[in-house]
Amino acid sequence: MSRSAFVLQEMGLSPLWRPRGEPDIHDSPANLAAPIAETAAIVTVATPPSPAAMATPAPVEIPFEIKEATRPAKLPDALPIQDWDSLHAHVAACQRCELAKTRHNVVVGRGNPTARLLIIGEAPGEQEDRQGLPFVGKAGQLLENMLAAAGIHSTEDVYICNVVKCRPPGNRNPAPAEIASCASYLQWQIDTIQPDLIVALGRFAAHTLLNSQAPISTLRKQLHHAHGRPLLVTFHPAYLLRSPGEKAKAWQDWHQVKCQLAS
Ligand code: SF4
Repeated sequence: MSRSAFVLQEMGLSPLWRPRGEPDIHDSPANLAAPIAETAAIVTVATPPSPAAMATPAPVEIPFEIKEATRPAKLPDALPIQDWDSLHAHVAACQRCELAKTRHNVVVGRGNPTARLLIIGEAPGEQEDRQGLPFVGKAGQLLENMLAAAGIHSTEDVYICNVVKCRPPGNRNPAPAEIASCASYLQWQIDTIQPDLIVALGRFAAHTLLNSQAPISTLRKQLHHAHGRPLLVTFHPAYLLRSPGEKAKAWQDWHQVKCQLAS
């Protein structure tokens, strides 16, 4: 099975349709690693066949800037973090909240710190806590597959992190006090990366970043503006593993991410 067919199968979108006689350009390693702007056309070529859930991602009408989300207050004792090494050192030594007592490793982030795309999830899970890296379990593999299918290179085109940097026990949602304690680290990452686009993965990250309690079905398909940057919302890959029927919607969302980056 070709790489592109595998990727789309993982997303629940295979088989890949393409015109008879047209080469499978998705299988070129150069294409998968190419800069985002140069691969925008790839997504539009990957036209899954009917039924409706496998149709070409319909252009999503994005109303501009539905509202400016409330910017979280910086902590009064915001640390004098100068660079990424300093950030990692501060987070590694951080005891600001209760999560420090149960973590095995802090999870600061991974990817390109000068990327145009910043992906923000909720919190580290068990595998992330063990390895000290975000999105390395099954959900992380699905995220990798979705990025690859969209022609986005997960190490060159993206920086990935979470709202909080330590694992909540039992994968519970982080408490408001824990989010507030960790907010200055996330804000430093956003301010330093200055991404062209933020993607919030899942309801929790979206609610935190947008200071909203609206359902994810409402928050998707709209271009928000938060933390001084454009922001799109899509499903968390862990949710997609539990609800594979939603993968077609996620494909639409990532198609929209590509369009937004190309605009
Ligand atoms: S979650 Fe954030 S604030 Fe809490 S201990 Fe970890 S790094 Fe510090």
